[in-house]
Amino acid sequence: MTADYPVINCDILIIGGGSAGAMAAIRAKEMDSSQRVVVFEKGDIKYSGCIARGMDALNIVAIPGLTTPELYVESNRIACNGIMDEPVNYRMAERSFQLLKKLESWDVCFPTDEKGNYEVLQVHPKGRFCVTMKEPELKAILANRVKELGVEVLDRTMAMELLKNGNRVCGAIGMNVRTGEILVCTAKSVILSAGGTARFGLPNNGYLYGVYDFPGNTGDGYCLAYNAGAELSGFEYTLIYYIIKDINAPLLYITLTRGASLLNAFDEHREKDHPSISSMLQEHNEGRGPMRILMRHLPEQKIKEIEDILFTTERPVQERFFKGRGVDFRSGEIELWPTECFLCGGHGLTGIRINERAETNIPGLYAAGDTALVARGHLSGAFVYGEIAAESATEFSSKTEPVELDSGQVEEFIKARDARFERGSNPISIEEFEYKVRRIINDYIRPPKAEYKLNRALWWMDRFRKELVQLVYVKDVHDLFKVYEVENIIQCATMSALASRERKESRWGPWHHRTDYPQRDDEQWLKHIVLTSGEAPEDIRISYRDIVRL
Ligand SMILES: Cc1cc2nc3c(=O)[nH]c(=O)nc-3n(C[C@H](O)[C@H](O)[C@H](O)COP(=O)(O)OP(=O)(O)OC[C@H]3O[C@@H](n4cnc5c(N)ncnc54)[C@H](O)[C@@H]3O)c2cc1C
Repeated sequence: MTADYPVINCDILIIGGGSAGAMAAIRAKEMDSSQRVVVFEKGDIKYSGCIARGMDALNIVAIPGLTTPELYVESNRIACNGIMDEPVNYRMAERSFQLLKKLESWDVCFPTDEKGNYEVLQVHPKGRFCVTMKEPELKAILANRVKELGVEVLDRTMAMELLKNGNRVCGAIGMNVRTGEILVCTAKSVILSAGGTARFGLPNNGYLYGVYDFPGNTGDGYCLAYNAGAELSGFEYTLIYYIIKDINAPLLYITLTRGASLLNAFDEHREKDHPSISSMLQEHNEGRGPMRILMRHLPEQKIKEIEDILFTTERPVQERFFKGRGVDFRSGEIELWPTECFLCGGHGLTGIRINERAETNIPGLYAAGDTALVARGHLSGAFVYGEIAAESATEFSSKTEPVELDSGQVEEFIKARDARFERGSNPISIEEFEYKVRRIINDYIRPPKAEYKLNRALWWMDRFRKELVQLVYVKDVHDLFKVYEVENIIQCATMSALASRERKESRWGPWHHRTDYPQRDDEQWLKHIVLTSGEAPEDIRISYRDIVRL
C-alpha cells in the first residue's frame, strides 16, 4: 500500500529544537556532516524553548583553577538532597568549560573584567559555578548554525508517537500543528529534547500560557518516552519558583548581585542571607511575603545596567510590563510571588533516566535537556547532554541498518486522530477544560502534599482522561493539537501524583513537602522512584533504583 503521508528517512531525528535539541543537531553534523539530521520543532526554532524566556548565565561551569567537577558533584549532591546519579552530573561539569569556550567562539558574550576574568557567582551550596552571560541573540545564533550545517528543521511539527521496531525506537510520527498533516520520519536513532512540563499548575495570573517556563512544553517528551517503555524518575519533585509577580519572568541574580535590596512585607532586609528560591518561598508561605526588590538606592548607571539586561537578554517584554504597571526602578519596587508548579529536569529532577552517554534503557533512544534526568543541570546540562546525545546517537546510527517502516502503526495513529474529529458537537472547549485540569493540579498536587490530596488528584485525572473524550469538542486542527497537549498534561499529573504518594517522606524543602510525612527519611528513601508503563497509559508501574555514585 502506498503511504498518503510524506516519509523521511534519516540517521538522527531530534524531537524539540530548544537548547538541547539545537545543540544536539549542531554536534551531530560536526561529528559527521554527511549524516541526515532532522529536527521536529513544535514552534519556530528561532524563538522556541526556554532560552527566549530569559537566560542570563551558564549556571554550571567548572572553571579550571577556580572550581572542579568533583566540587560540583559534592555541591549538587547537597542541592539535590542526595538524589542524583553522580557520574551523569560529573560528566556535565567536566565538559562545561569546553562548552563555554565553544559558545564564545560563536560570539556568545560572557562578560569579563579588565583582567579577562569571567563574572562568576555563587548560587550553589559550595563553589562558584555560575558564569554570567549577556547574549540576547543566543537562540538565533544556535538556530542559524543548525540551518547553516544542513540540518532539516521541520517547524510547527509536534512529535506525536515514537515508532518502534521490536524494542528499538526507530523514528516518530509528527503532525503539523497548523494544518494537521501527518509526517513520518524513520530514523536510526532518536534524541528526545522536548523540554519539561511548563504548563502544569495554573499560574496566579490565571493565564494558561502566563507561566515561567516555555509554554509550548507540555511534557510531550516524558509521555513519548513513557509510551515507548523508557524509565522516568523524579515526578515527585514539583517545582515552584519565586519570581516577578504576574509576569513570572526572571530577574533575581541580575538585580541582587548588583546591589539591589530584597525586603519582606515587614521591610526586613533579606539580601544579605544569600536568599534561595526555597527560603523566599518559605518566607512567603509563612505570611511574611510578598518579598520585594528595591533599587532606588543604586546609582543611575547601575540601574541602567540592570535595565539593559532585563529588557534585552531576559524577557524584552519586561520593559512594557513595568511601564504598564507604572514601575520605574528609580522610585518603585518589584513585587515577587510564587509561580505555578511545574516539572522539569534542568531546574529540578524530573526526567527520563539516562546514563553519562545520554542513553535511555531503550535502544536507539537518547534524551537531553529538561526532558532528561541530569539533576538540576540547567542550561549547561541541556547543552552538554545535547552534545553527548548527538555523539552517542551518531555512533549508534553508524553501526545500524535503516529499519522498515511499520505502516500499520501509522495507520492506527491516523485512524485515532480522525476519530477525534468526530467530537465536534461536544460542549466544552479545550481551553476551558485545560483551565480546570490545571486548577485541580493546584488543588491536589502542588505542595504541601498529603495522601488524601494525592488520591483526589488521581481520581480527578482518571475522570479527566474520560471527559477529554466525552465532553471536549475538536472542531479544527488548533483544538486537535491542544487536546493532545492536555492529554500529556493529564498523564504527567497522574505520574506526579503517583510518585508523590509513593515517596512517604518530605524532601527538597517546599517542593516535596508531605504534611503527613514531614521528616526526611534517608534510610528508606535515599533512592530514585522510577515509573514505567504497564498495559495502559494509566497503568503506571513503580520501582526503585539505587543512586549511582562516582
Ligand atoms: C525563565 C527561565 C530562565 C532560565 N535561566 C537560566 C539561566 O540563566 N541559566 C541556566 O543555566 N539555565 C537557565 N534556565 C534553565 C535552562 O534554560 C533549561 O534547563 C534549558 O534551556 C532546557 O533546554 P531544553 O532543550 O530541554 O528545553 P527547551 O529549550 O525549552 O526546548 C524544548 C523544545 O521542545 C519543543 N517541543 C516540545 N514538545 C514538542 C513536541 N512534541 N514535538 C516537537 N517539539 C516539541 C519546544 O517547542 C521547545 O522548542 C532557565 C529556564 C527558564 C524557564
